Amino acid sequence: MSIVIPFPLVAPNDDGIRPAGGPDKCFYCEQKIGTSHLRDCVAVTKKVKLRVTLDVELDQPHFSDTTNIESYFEEEPGAIRYFGKDLALGTILECKVLEMSETPEITLEHRPGLN
Ligand SMILES: [Zn+2]
Repeated sequence: MSIVIPFPLVAPNDDGIRPAGGPDKCFYCEQKIGTSHLRDCVAVTKKVKLRVTLDVELDQPHFSDTTNIESYFEEEPGAIRYFGKDLALGTILECKVLEMSETPEITLEHRPGLN
């Protein structure tokens, strides 16, 4: 048995409507406002939780030793956010999908005159 999940309609403030495309249709699948995005449209997303292992070089205080550094990031997992620029330059060694929603979603932008 398969369950058919309704696919999102192209909304007037749909993120799939781009300046480079027509103002009344999805830039990616070219469906008009009020009709369903196509099943292979990249504007329709789903939530995915990944576990990523990556190598990255960070500047750390000179006095830090391995124990200092590892315990800091284990005890303060949010601290890794300070190194966003460096993380973007890291090398992904492994990427594993932990969870994946089947719910299709679209992103709506706030545009003046639209809700
Ligand atoms: Zn689309």
